[in-house]
Amino acid sequence: MNYRRLGRSGLKVSELSFGSWVTYGNQLGESAARECMAAAFDAGVNFFDNAEVYAKGNAESIMGEALKRLGWRRSSYIVSTKFFWGLNDGPNERNTLNRKYLLQAIDGSLERLQLDYVDLVYCHRPDPDTPIEETVAALHSIIEAGKATYWGTSEWDAADIMAAWQIAERHQLHKPVTEQPQYNLFHRDRVEHEYARLYEDLGLGTTTWSPLASGLLSGKYNDGVPADSRAAIKGYEWLGERVQDSSKLAKVRALAPIARELSCTLAQLALAWCLKNPHVSTVITGASRPSQVKENMQAQQVVPKLSPDVMARIDAIVSA
Ligand code: NDP
Repeated sequence: MNYRRLGRSGLKVSELSFGSWVTYGNQLGESAARECMAAAFDAGVNFFDNAEVYAKGNAESIMGEALKRLGWRRSSYIVSTKFFWGLNDGPNERNTLNRKYLLQAIDGSLERLQLDYVDLVYCHRPDPDTPIEETVAALHSIIEAGKATYWGTSEWDAADIMAAWQIAERHQLHKPVTEQPQYNLFHRDRVEHEYARLYEDLGLGTTTWSPLASGLLSGKYNDGVPADSRAAIKGYEWLGERVQDSSKLAKVRALAPIARELSCTLAQLALAWCLKNPHVSTVITGASRPSQVKENMQAQQVVPKLSPDVMARIDAIVSA
């Protein structure tokens, strides 16, 4: 496993990491989640991503229990959580990044994760109703209280990230070190263009999500929706529609000969393509079984095979 610095921070993250969205609580209970985490850890993964809202807190409970049973040295792994949507309906409990919510939310997450601190806490979305100053100061308080080590944003626009960073700089508060954006062959603009200045100017890291576009890029939806797949889960009908987009499926099929030439699977090709971007600090993978984790971790071996010519052919297919 290669480890990359999370932007300008000193934190080193495995370039492939492992997250819990949809899977934990919907597809996996504690023991299956533990098996996937163990397979990832064995491959060198040191970063496990979570969020308060995933399975309404249950993904954190599952990860916390798994971590307890796995008994790894606390200093050997990185755990994150994210706040915004909340778990309750009150005006200060949902869709907010205000100080009151954030200071309460971190305590709930730590309890569910059975941890004294998380390594990374993210503002899961921007909150137009709370001044950025208030959010930055609340994140600073959480870090100063020893409940988190670093903080970042997720799906914030470049201007808001810049504003948060400058407020922190001006008031000597902890700065955001990373963004968590979607990044895959079908979703590139923010990482490749909108954030371009921030890598150099702020030393921004990125922990990118949905590298397979929820599995679409693995080719698993080429012949319909498999019954044991994410898109078949009740409540995820919106995702079922998304992975059956005929123009995207045609592009996935067109990528298959390239994967064959490189002796890898489509999933490995799509993950390696994300890894090729030096502005990506870590690609957060998802998996509902250990065999997928093992397959995905081997994507690293495909990166050196992505020559300029192969990259150009991939570009031509996805941008057609
Ligand atoms: P992917 O796009 O990689 O999708 C993962 C899913 O694809 C798996 O659960 C599995 O689904 C399928 N899959 C994975 N590997 C393979 C394979 N080798 N062959 C076939 N199918 C495969 O990632 P996610 O969408 O899960 O996102 C990764 C992580 O990013 C999340 O867990 C979460 O931590 C984070 N995230 C953050 C968001 C944010 O707003 N900050 C939003 C979304 C995700 P199946 O069960 O169908 O096999």
